[in-house]
Amino acid sequence: MCGIVAYIGKKEAYPILIKGLKRLEYRGYDSAGISLVNQGLKVYKCKGKVSDLEGFAAGKDISGSVGIGHTRWATHGEPNDVNAHPHFSGNENLAIIHNGIIENYDSLKKELIQRGHTFKSDTDTEVLIHLIEDVQANENLPLAEAVRVALTQVIGAYAIAVLDKNDPEVIIGAKKGSPMVVGLGKDEYFLASDATPIVEYTKDVVYLEDEQIVELRPGHEIKIRNIENEVLTPYIQELELHLEALEKGGYEHFMLKEIFEQPKSIADSMRGRFHVESSDVSLGGIIDYEQKMATAKRIIIVACGTSWHAGLVGEYLIEDLARIPVEVEYASEFRYRNPIVHEDDVVIAISQSGETADTLAALELAKSKGATIIGVCNVVGSSISRITDAGSYTHAGPEIGVASTKAFTSQVTVLLLMALRLAHKKGAIPESRFQRILAALEKIPQQVEETLKSAALVEHISAEYKDARNFLYLGRGYNFPVALEGALKLKEISYIHAEGYPAAEMKHGPIALIDEEMPVVVIATSKGSYEKVISNIQEVKARKGKIIVVVTKGDKTAAELADHVIEIPETEEELVPILASVPLQLLSYYIAVMRGCNVDQPRNLAKSVTVE
Ligand code: GLU
Repeated sequence: MCGIVAYIGKKEAYPILIKGLKRLEYRGYDSAGISLVNQGLKVYKCKGKVSDLEGFAAGKDISGSVGIGHTRWATHGEPNDVNAHPHFSGNENLAIIHNGIIENYDSLKKELIQRGHTFKSDTDTEVLIHLIEDVQANENLPLAEAVRVALTQVIGAYAIAVLDKNDPEVIIGAKKGSPMVVGLGKDEYFLASDATPIVEYTKDVVYLEDEQIVELRPGHEIKIRNIENEVLTPYIQELELHLEALEKGGYEHFMLKEIFEQPKSIADSMRGRFHVESSDVSLGGIIDYEQKMATAKRIIIVACGTSWHAGLVGEYLIEDLARIPVEVEYASEFRYRNPIVHEDDVVIAISQSGETADTLAALELAKSKGATIIGVCNVVGSSISRITDAGSYTHAGPEIGVASTKAFTSQVTVLLLMALRLAHKKGAIPESRFQRILAALEKIPQQVEETLKSAALVEHISAEYKDARNFLYLGRGYNFPVALEGALKLKEISYIHAEGYPAAEMKHGPIALIDEEMPVVVIATSKGSYEKVISNIQEVKARKGKIIVVVTKGDKTAAELADHVIEIPETEEELVPILASVPLQLLSYYIAVMRGCNVDQPRNLAKSVTVE
């Protein structure tokens, strides 16, 4: 994803664009750039953050009251100065910013090259502006019409804003798949990926729908057409006053928004990293260290909290698929317990923020002993990502709710890809299994979407157990870490005591707690140990515990024994943690809301634990 912002009116555009880009920076920070209409078109762009762009533009001519700005999250072409947006057309009469992916860019590019176009960048975006230029020149069309005609040839997702040197009083916007909102001021217009750059200037906005093209000319009414060239009446809405609420995108809490974002955040974590057809997984960030990882005598995963649970899934995955011994350590223990670390060990740190103090210190210790250190972080440019030898970002987008949800499922996704890559490299996995998992992985975002449909059912179950004083979560195999994570979520935000246990361990202690008051959540999907989990459910039932099961769709046996049944779609066992976590997140969310707890900022907790 990336952030786009545009302004046309009487004010100086540059400060509005820069401020807007800072608000949108959560959407991407690989590079930033602006274009201003100022005796022609000026483009200033560079690798890095918006603050780098400000440094780059300092002292240059930044005057002009028409402009577009972009902060990039690279999909096509590495994050560098040349690939930064805006991109010029070949004749440099047009400039474009774009959020999304032009999927058929390759074939379009080849056609355009045959027609004499040459390209400077590796982006799909530059292809689109050349296509618009081509249409404009060949058919002698005004800009808005050229954009519309060009977009009829495009497959993919886009939110774009285009400037034309020869028509300096207009900005053309269009969207499909990526968000775009227009702000209507007095003799001025704004356009952006979300309303945060707009809200302080105007409350009147129009949210563009897919395949709509907008023409913004100060002094003229906003003009919207669809891709079929039908003129549409704009639906002008009044913005909510609270910036905070806007950022929640209409959800009551960030946590709920983030739970519902998971189909997208998981898809973002996978994007470009595997191909079912060519049966291939590639994680660009660790490519130079793959050999070292694949041949390591041992991998140590260090993490805290939810990331530690993701690490435990990682252990199961890497050992199962790649046959490399893995140990998972609490970073706070590892750093102080005088651990044995060899030079040929690989230490993987998992941290959403990339700033977790204990994890950082654990890595520093491992580094001082000569181990190779790898990061799995969500925040780009964070401390952990800077000190590690290599790593893979999770690309889940900013997570604001303190209780981690989408960051966890993205961590598990990335660890699965890592395990698959290492397994493939080592030849430790039969091709058929490798392909089966990849095919299942491709379906996961859609299946998470499907799983989210159980929200109303989970809310109903939550009402029944909101006053419980204790909860037990049970799972085996890949579902054991899911049980731990489910219990942690509940503790964090509802303040109900909860324990996660390997299902078979229950009889070694926690079974003493079970009575008719005790809700027991059992994740009963695992194919390998299904019968055993059924026995564990029977043991709970015999002691009158209340049973909530998470099962694979169509399951009968566990469902018949349980008081409540939540179904998830069928997938490969290795992927179940991603799907099974979702209803447990919802359960803790709804219970916390019903208990009147501060879901997004639970007491005593903080998002990024930068103290030990
Ligand atoms: N696909 C475009 C690029 O890689 C835009 C990515 C974005 O949405 O930031 O440059």
